Amino acid sequence: MAGIQTCISGSLPKPEWLAEPEKLWSPWLLDGEKLIEGKKKAIKIAVEEQLKAGISIIADGEQTRQHFVTTFIENLSGVDFKNKKKVRIRDRYDADVPVVFEEVKRLKPVYVHDARYLRTQTKLPIKYTLPGPMTMVDTLYDDYYKSREKLALQFAEILNSEAKELEAAGVNYIQFDEPAFNVFFDDVKHWGIRCLEKAAQGLKCKTVVHICYGYGIEANINWKKTLGNEWRQYENIFPLLAKSKINQISLECQNSKVPIDLIKLLKGKDVLVGSIDVATKEIETPEQVYKTLKKALEFVEAKNLYACTNCGMVNLPKHVAYEKMKSLAGGAKLLSKELGIIQE
Ligand code: ZN
Repeated sequence: MAGIQTCISGSLPKPEWLAEPEKLWSPWLLDGEKLIEGKKKAIKIAVEEQLKAGISIIADGEQTRQHFVTTFIENLSGVDFKNKKKVRIRDRYDADVPVVFEEVKRLKPVYVHDARYLRTQTKLPIKYTLPGPMTMVDTLYDDYYKSREKLALQFAEILNSEAKELEAAGVNYIQFDEPAFNVFFDDVKHWGIRCLEKAAQGLKCKTVVHICYGYGIEANINWKKTLGNEWRQYENIFPLLAKSKINQISLECQNSKVPIDLIKLLKGKDVLVGSIDVATKEIETPEQVYKTLKKALEFVEAKNLYACTNCGMVNLPKHVAYEKMKSLAGGAKLLSKELGIIQE
């Protein structure tokens, strides 16, 4: 075994010449050909930084998208982005969102071109992230399907076509981001898992679902304050995920009030343990990362343990995100050495 594998959950900060830094929905600072070239260069830089930090599964850092859900939806037909409507997102905060007005379709590949480029940048395994069907539904106003389940099923089919092309482009890990799973437990049970499996149907690469408590923005920080001393949301969904066909589960652990023993509900799955808090600029030490991983190791076998971040790092300063990646790799190395699964 090559030591505990490490990866980021998704996004990294963008270069300051590409988009305004430390912002979630930051607009592009370039356009036309310059924007296309700029995004490519940003992927190249993101790869170099991950390699330098010692990360072992490489992502594109979501350098070509403004937002993990809406950029994907912008590339579909049947959605009106001009006349937005206000809806409550994740049962937590109001946002102006696009409106579904007819059947949604994927007329062309969304990230496949970017993935092919990422593939040329490293020989290490690569990961690509897509929004999950339920989270997509929860980031829209539906004026056509009038059913969250029906719209999610349609998204699942669209995601499946995209995922299959990403796999063909050489992607080793395809991750679906489903923070909405942490909120709508009945929907997860009734159709969420089914739609997620449909999105991943027929894939031979590793499939991942990422479920977190959100970016470090104010609405999420306030929500977390209402969740009490123990966050047991995962208890509702892990048993269902354990029975699903998804290979890996990515969860939030660092500085969170998630009881770590909930991991045992994921028996048989790979667990991506969030060992970096993305809601603080304070940089974890490798020893802190090691401690979080070591605690997780009581409930998951080393071969199924991956070191990951709690969530995306898009809104952190660039040097902070880099140092956090370095500590992530450093902590995984400390544990791997202790377990005797790498020499040095
Ligand atoms: Zn997340």
